[in-house]
Parts: sequence; C-alpha cells; structure tokens
Amino acid sequence: MLSNVLNRASRSDRARRAVEAIPVTRKVVDRFVAGADQDAALEVARGVSGRGLATSLDILGEGVSDIAGARRTRDQYVTLLGALGQTGAGTGTEVSVKLSALGQALPGDGHRVALDLAHDICVAADAAGTMVTLDMEDHTTVDSTLAIGNELRAEFPRTGTVLQSNLKRTAGDIADLAADPVRIRLVKGAYKEPVSVAHQRKAEVDEAYRGDLTRLMASACYPMVATHDPQMVELARRLGREQERGAAGWEFQMLYGVRGDLQGALAAEGHQVRLYVPFGEEWYPYFMRRLAERPANVAFFLRALARSN
Ligand SMILES: Cc1cc2nc3c(=O)[nH]c(=O)nc-3n(C[C@H](O)[C@H](O)[C@H](O)COP(=O)(O)OP(=O)(O)OC[C@H]3O[C@@H](n4cnc5c(N)ncnc54)[C@H](O)[C@@H]3O)c2cc1C
Repeated sequence: MLSNVLNRASRSDRARRAVEAIPVTRKVVDRFVAGADQDAALEVARGVSGRGLATSLDILGEGVSDIAGARRTRDQYVTLLGALGQTGAGTGTEVSVKLSALGQALPGDGHRVALDLAHDICVAADAAGTMVTLDMEDHTTVDSTLAIGNELRAEFPRTGTVLQSNLKRTAGDIADLAADPVRIRLVKGAYKEPVSVAHQRKAEVDEAYRGDLTRLMASACYPMVATHDPQMVELARRLGREQERGAAGWEFQMLYGVRGDLQGALAAEGHQVRLYVPFGEEWYPYFMRRLAERPANVAFFLRALARSN
C-alpha cells in the first residue's frame, strides 16, 4: 500500500536525499510547515491567534543520535519559550516536544537524559506562562514517554500527554490517567505499527478512536481532540454536550495546513481550537507522515512537480 511505502520512506536516508533534491518539494512542504526558523513560526502563531485559534509550536527534528543534538534541541525550545514570554504570546501558545529529539533513544541513560532536558523545557515554559505537550512516537517509546509525562506533572501539572487509538493498549492507558485532570491529546496514530500491538485497518482504528474518545470525555482529564475526521468531530461535539463540559472543558486540535475550513468553522461555533504548527529545517519525516496519511496529498505533490517541469 502507498501509505506503507511512504511510512518506510520516512525512515530512509536514501529516500530523504531523493525527495529533498526535488526543487518543488519545498513549496509543497510549506503547506504543512510554518517556516525554517523561529521568527517565521511566531509570525504564523500571531496570524493564527488573530483568527481566534491557539497554537502548539513544534520544532521539527526527531531521533537525535548524540547528547549534543539532544541539548541543542533543548536550547532551541528554551530560546523559543523566552521569545514567547517576551512577546506575551505565551498564554495562547504552548509547545509540543518529541522526546526522541531530546535523546530518549540514546543507549544506556536515554530515558533519564530526555526527562532532564524535558524538565528544562518545562521550567522555561512555566516562566513564559505556558505549557508543554509531549508528542507520542512509535509504540516502543510509549512506556518511557508516559512515565516522563507522569514525572513532569508532579511539578508542572499542565504537561500534556498524547495517546494513540491505533494502539491496543490505549484504553488501559486512559483508565490509568482518568481520575486526574491530565491534558490528554487523543490521536489516531501516525506510525506504522506491528499487528501485535496495533489495529491495522482504518475501520478498526476509527472504532477504537470512538471508544477512547467516549472514555476520555467521561473522565476527569482535559481532552484535546486531535483529528480532522468529520465523524469524530461530530462525536466530540455530542459528547462534550452530554458531559456538560462547556467550551473551556476541552479543545479541538488540528494540524497546520489541514482542513483550514473546519478549523475556522469550529472556532466560529465557540469551540477552542488549537493548531499544531511545526517549523524548522528537519521537515522530512514529518512531511512524509502527512503524505502517508492521505493519498490526495501525494497527488498534490505530483501535480506541483508536473507544473514545475
Ligand atoms: C494536533 C495534532 C497532533 C498530533 N500529534 C500526534 C502525535 O503526537 N503522535 C502521532 O502518532 N500522531 C499525531 N498526530 C497525527 C494523527 O495520529 C493522525 O495521523 C492524523 O491526525 C490523521 O488522522 P485524522 O484523525 O485526522 O483522521 P483520518 O481518518 O486520517 O483523516 C480524516 C480526514 O482528515 C483530513 N486529513 C487527515 N490527514 C490529512 C493530511 N495529512 N492532509 C490533508 N488532509 C488530511 C482528510 O480530509 C481526511 O479524510 C497528530 C494530529 C494532530 C491533529
């Protein structure tokens, strides 16, 4: 299947070099990525805020292979949060962080390194009056990422965690967190996972998402409903009403560049909507996962390629 090929390509250096060498790639990437640097991202965040939406800024990059790279990621986030604090953009803008960019996979003490560096980012976020959400990566990282989230919440209770409905374990993970007001972003899951741990068919993932969303909305957690799927959006609206959560009791989240029409419509209805806005030079794996999610994006890419020749 095309999405399997694209998911494999997202981890291949050879495919990366080939895609990066295509001149038109950058134009297509710009649909999903806010720019190459912090200034570009902050400008996008201001524009998003002007539309009545909030932002989660993500510095692209994942899977660093040495401690220096992990510390560089930490430093970039601390600088970004310093700028957010100064401009006052802090309240409507949080940051999303991938722990693999903070050294989680380093041999030996990767878990500890990622925890310590994520702690530094939480300190900077707190000083800027905002908060951090820990993105979730492939299934091998889930135990470590959940444990780091739990540890950080002891000092920074607003630290958010992502749960992926394609994983069979997720109903249990919601049950573990359900009694506390934890910020939980529920997604379908963007990684190709083995059948032993994950639902494979779209219909199964959708069914799992419905169940997880229902459990999450009934819990003491703060649900961050991260989907562009109109059926899930409708279900979230209904559950929000039934659970009498009110507009402040949960939020929608969507990706920058995806379903701008729906984002605006939900905000106009009075819902909180937060956009996930990635920026930076390390766009390749993120971009390939967006292509894998939707064949129409590949067609868009190919059309741009054809026009450039
Ligand atoms: C705010 C946010 C944060 C996320 N964080 C994580 C994370 O930490 N870990 C993780 O594994 N995944 C994450 N994801 C990705 C998520 O797991 C899904 O892969 C992605 O959201 C697509 O699923 P969907 O729920 O939108 O539904 P789908 O069934 O995939 O799509 C429903 C409809 O949404 C639109 N759509 C969906 N994706 C695209 C796209 N790429 N381009 C254009 N249109 C599209 C289409 O109209 C499609 O028909 C995140 C998603 C969001 C919105």
